[in-house]
Amino acid sequence: MSSKITAPRGTQDILPPQSARWQALESQIHGLARRFGYGEVRTPMFESTELFVRGVGEATDIVEKEMYTFTDKGDRSITLRPEWTAPVMRAALEHNLFAQGPQRLYYIGPIFRYERPQKGRYRQAHQFGVECVGFAGPEADLEVIALAWELVRTNAIDDAVLNINSIGDDVCRPHYREALLAHFRPHLASLSAESQRRLERNPLRLLDSKDPHDRPYVESAPTFESVLCDACREHFDALKAYLIAIGIPFVVNPRIVRGLDYYTRTVFEIISGALGSQSTVCGGGRYDGLVASLGGPDVPAVGFGLGIERFLMMLDAAGSQAEPARSGIQAVGLGVQARTVLVPIVAELRRRLGQPVYMDFDDRKLLAHLKSADRNGARYALILGTDELAKGELILRDLEARSDRRLALGSGRDVAAAVVEAGMR
Ligand code: ATP
Ligand code: MG
Repeated sequence: MSSKITAPRGTQDILPPQSARWQALESQIHGLARRFGYGEVRTPMFESTELFVRGVGEATDIVEKEMYTFTDKGDRSITLRPEWTAPVMRAALEHNLFAQGPQRLYYIGPIFRYERPQKGRYRQAHQFGVECVGFAGPEADLEVIALAWELVRTNAIDDAVLNINSIGDDVCRPHYREALLAHFRPHLASLSAESQRRLERNPLRLLDSKDPHDRPYVESAPTFESVLCDACREHFDALKAYLIAIGIPFVVNPRIVRGLDYYTRTVFEIISGALGSQSTVCGGGRYDGLVASLGGPDVPAVGFGLGIERFLMMLDAAGSQAEPARSGIQAVGLGVQARTVLVPIVAELRRRLGQPVYMDFDDRKLLAHLKSADRNGARYALILGTDELAKGELILRDLEARSDRRLALGSGRDVAAAVVEAGMR
């Protein structure tokens, strides 16, 4: 006896009707990105490991413990894409996009991270994100935040909160680093092992720690506000003014630092109370040094990544999962002869209607066919039985209004035209 094979831990199968929700969100995202002038980038699902070590940073959760890395048969170290920013920048550099001026790029697709699976945390997850490359000013920060926020706003997610912060630049970050070191060092022994290890290399990362041992020291840590240089403060103030001007609510949260090494100045997260402990649905910010660190020109960039699974969870919590309206038509042929007549009619309907057309091909009673129509969520049934065949007609039953009307049985074309005329599109 062989045991059943199941999906790998931390992965999910997305089946109908849930997959229709994914499709709806995906098409909303493609439309939104288009309206903001962003073009889609698709990169390979795997890249050379080096790209993520350099582009994400060694002292990060992703590179330290979450990558799916393996050696391929040609002895290369390969990693399944754990995030999209480095691959998108790699592709843009490889194809010389930055030589053509500023770039507005977006992506949507899977990421792979070896994490402990739990609600809202998977080993294969999906992200939508954008990269706006080539603009150093706060207008670009505003643009990407507005794009992410538009998705929240149009889906009426009321409990989502935009948190913003600034983590400075090369001028003021060293001062903040010193301030953090001075703050944490006396408590070194009480910190989590991970934070002890990270303190000297990247004290900012400690602010990101979710470990309860670190919590009290994180809470009392100095904020960046106190050390921001004039240029960074100006940038941050301008961003806040822009957000107010276009009516996007936000809170300034000095504990937002983002996990990746390459951020500069603006960082932001969209957080929802409805998500429990995995509460961040979207994280992003400015990373002016990244492209250069990958061997490219010194171009500024700002972007975000948004978790599709968490966004759908947020939609569920917001209760916007309204019962979908019935749509489409189920052809019901009772008996071989009726079925033979219906098949070309179904083919014609599928050409003409923008809605689903269903038909079951087995010999069953009318009731069983209508149950199938209900399961499919069909609005209409187009019924052909022996009586109707004899009379040369079909019954078009409105399954919602529970009313029948009779159509003349003709060619597929004629019937399709009659169905369209009866109110279907
Ligand atoms: P977290 O702090 O929750 O681990 P992160 O900082 O690692 O998040 P990012 O790398 O910034 O997350 O990714 C952006 C978004 O992608 C997250 O806010 C989240 O919505 C989603 N995401 C990241 N990792 C996962 C995962 N393992 N499972 C599901 N969604 C994820
Ligand atoms: Mg993470």
